Amino acid sequence: MKQCLRCSSVNIRRSHTRNLSERILKLFFRKYYRCIDCDWRGIIKTKASFTRCYAKEYIFLQIIAVIIIIIIIYLIISFLCK
Ligand SMILES: [Zn+2]
Repeated sequence: MKQCLRCSSVNIRRSHTRNLSERILKLFFRKYYRCIDCDWRGIIKTKASFTRCYAKEYIFLQIIAVIIIIIIIYLIISFLCK
């Protein structure tokens, strides 16, 4: 059962991705949820297993997403300048 990480409510639903980095995170099988009771929004990995390790992993994935975006922009620019 999925639980809200702020208020521990089980009254949550899936949330749509808002930007490119969230879409890329979604590719890594991270799904966003929103709590209907307290309006919290974020990623739920497993039942009540939010740890500091997970927060580090989230930052790591965000950095990878930014690196991928920079590489794509670099490739587009180098392709256009030929
Ligand atoms: Zn909540």
